[in-house]
Amino acid sequence: MLSTRQLFLLNTAQTSPFPRSLEIERAEGMYLYDREGVRYMDLVSGFAVSNTGHRHPEVVKAIKDQVDKYLHLTVYGEYIQAPQVRFAEKLASVLPSSLSSVYFVNSGAEATEGAMKLAKRYTGRSGIIACTNSYHGSTQGALSVMGNEYYKQAYRPLLPGISFIEFNNPVDLEQITTETSAVILETIQGEAGIRVPDLDYMQKLRKRCDETGTLIILDEIQTGFGRTGKMFGFEHFSITPDILLLAKGMGGGMPVGAFISSKDIMSSLQENPILGHITTFGGHPVSCAAGLANLNVILNEKLMDEVTTKESLFRTCLKHPKIKEIRGKGLMLCIQLDTFEQVEKVSKRCIEQGIIIDWFLHCDTALRVAPPLIITEEEIRRACGVIVEALNEV
Ligand code: PLP
Repeated sequence: MLSTRQLFLLNTAQTSPFPRSLEIERAEGMYLYDREGVRYMDLVSGFAVSNTGHRHPEVVKAIKDQVDKYLHLTVYGEYIQAPQVRFAEKLASVLPSSLSSVYFVNSGAEATEGAMKLAKRYTGRSGIIACTNSYHGSTQGALSVMGNEYYKQAYRPLLPGISFIEFNNPVDLEQITTETSAVILETIQGEAGIRVPDLDYMQKLRKRCDETGTLIILDEIQTGFGRTGKMFGFEHFSITPDILLLAKGMGGGMPVGAFISSKDIMSSLQENPILGHITTFGGHPVSCAAGLANLNVILNEKLMDEVTTKESLFRTCLKHPKIKEIRGKGLMLCIQLDTFEQVEKVSKRCIEQGIIIDWFLHCDTALRVAPPLIITEEEIRRACGVIVEALNEV
């Protein structure tokens, strides 16, 4: 009989020739456990998903309660489903008043797709501006606004009308005109290797978009739900987007995403044509129940309060001549090294020592540190000790 590992290679699609191939049997809090019972500390959060830790008891309870009531009922937007309604209400309560209309989807890429359509439909314009080194998902619309040719070239032609500006370069903002329906950007770039823009840049961006009647789509798919020390990254920059994209950490480990806007902007999907965006499973009741519980955990357990202190501890403990720079905000950090070989060796060594760490799509010379927000100071010290030791060995 073939092992699960052999069947993984045989029957599940592979996205790279070198998958990590850890075979995890269960997960809890900060830790994943493999078949032999070996424990791994998750410093990546399943790529910025498990902000409240794996299988938070409140999230698990909400899932079980909802499973006992109903699963899928009908396509999104038709029936009044309490888990969606309550989650949308709670999201609106932690957002600026202009972001009150939530369109639930299944993933980050679908949120990107929906937002791009919404911006075109609302403004009646077709041009969209995106940023260099951006990542907004892997579907064809989202790929069209990705700022990395390597991942796009094999799939052309992609969407027309897309142009790129340099992230965090105020001079480029002049390219935003009255022809531009929207500018889409990550509030803090993730896959670029965590790039935090300047306050002044973000405020100039808001001003330029107001002048030209262009919508700002802020992708908070990685930065959302407390990861940077605020509920949403844009709170650091005192600006409000016209459309907000959420996913990843939104569902407490369950798949859900959203694009959120004002009632006025969102209503343009209602007519001419009606059903401007359709999804069967978007806002699945179990995912929404989990999402609401997850948001309540972030608020009730005050998980954001210690994020900045934990960031400082990482920065203090991660001192090594091979570390060129540590970038990021809160628990969305990047350790810049020199080469991909170093990154691979350190990651491998860390995994052998029970610490899961990874790299970035557009920056393979840096290590990703994005643990669940529940990480303790003792765990930070231990993780950093392993990383520093691994750096000594490469
Ligand atoms: N936007 C950002 C900033 C992301 O980091 C990602 C995923 O890594 C996405 C969008 C796409 O999300 P998903 O993988 O759920 O489609």
